[in-house]
Amino acid sequence: MQAIVSPLRVGDDLSLRSSLTSPVNYDRDMSKLLYEHTEVVLAEGETPKKENFEKFCGTTSNIDKICLIWALYKSTYETLGQRNFKCDKENCKTEFKQEILLENLIQEDTFTIWEEDKPFYNFVYDIEVPYDDFIYVFETRLPSIRDNNKLLSNISIDALQNNLTQTGSLFTRREQMTLLSKSVAIKRKGLTTTEEIPKTENMQEMLMAFAEYIPHIVSESFFKQYRDKFDKYYPKFYTNVTCPSCGNSMKFQLDLEIEFFRRSLFGGREGSEEL
Ligand SMILES: [Zn+2]
Repeated sequence: MQAIVSPLRVGDDLSLRSSLTSPVNYDRDMSKLLYEHTEVVLAEGETPKKENFEKFCGTTSNIDKICLIWALYKSTYETLGQRNFKCDKENCKTEFKQEILLENLIQEDTFTIWEEDKPFYNFVYDIEVPYDDFIYVFETRLPSIRDNNKLLSNISIDALQNNLTQTGSLFTRREQMTLLSKSVAIKRKGLTTTEEIPKTENMQEMLMAFAEYIPHIVSESFFKQYRDKFDKYYPKFYTNVTCPSCGNSMKFQLDLEIEFFRRSLFGGREGSEEL
C-alpha cells in the first residue's frame, strides 16, 4: 500500500490550535487532517482513493499515523528548522545550531514491515504475567487511530498537559497499558474448572484496574514483553549531527507525534532541542 499526502494549508494549523481545549477534539481534528490530506493507492498504477473517515480511523494504526505525520510535515515544511545542540563530549560541550530536514530523519532501519499473519487491527498478542496467586492475562495489540481517540476521551486536558510537562509523553504508563491492551483478565493460579474469569475490554475499567490492582512488577513485565514483540514495528526517525569543533557525532532522535502536538500547542517553530 502506498499513500499520497498533500501539504497543509494555512488554515489547517489554526483549526488544530483552536481544538486544543479538548484532547479528544484535538486528536479527532488531527486524524481528520491526516485523512483529508491522504489518498491511498491500493495497487501499483491504480487511481488513489479515499476510504470513509470511520474506516480510516479503524484501519490506520498509530504507526501509520506517525508515518503520515512525517509525510505531511515533509510536504508542508521540508524542514524542522534550526535546532540547538550541545556536544556531549566531556571536554568539548560546544553549542551549535543545525538545520534538521525531514528527509534526513529516514535511515536504513527506520521502517520494519509488518510480518504477522493478520492485519494489525485483527491481531492480538497474548502476554501473561504470573504474580502471587494470580496470572494477569493481557490481549495486546497495535492501537488504531480510533483506539487512541477513545482513550483520549477518557482523559482530561489538564491531565494530558501534566503528562507532557512531567514526562514528555502524552500518556502515563497505566494509560499506555490501556491503549496497548484489547482486554485484561485476572485468573487465579491452578484454576482447573471453567470458572468465570473476570475479564474486561472496557477502557474505563482497565484504567481503574491498572491504577489499583496491577502491581508495578506486573506492568514492568508487561512493557518488556510488549516491547520485545512490537518495538521493531515502530518507525525510528533520527539523524546524526556532527559537532563543528571536535567532529563528535551524536544521534538526534525525535517523536514526531509529540513534535506535532507541541507545534499546535505552542505555535510557530520555536523548536529548540538539546541532546
Ligand atoms: Zn564537540
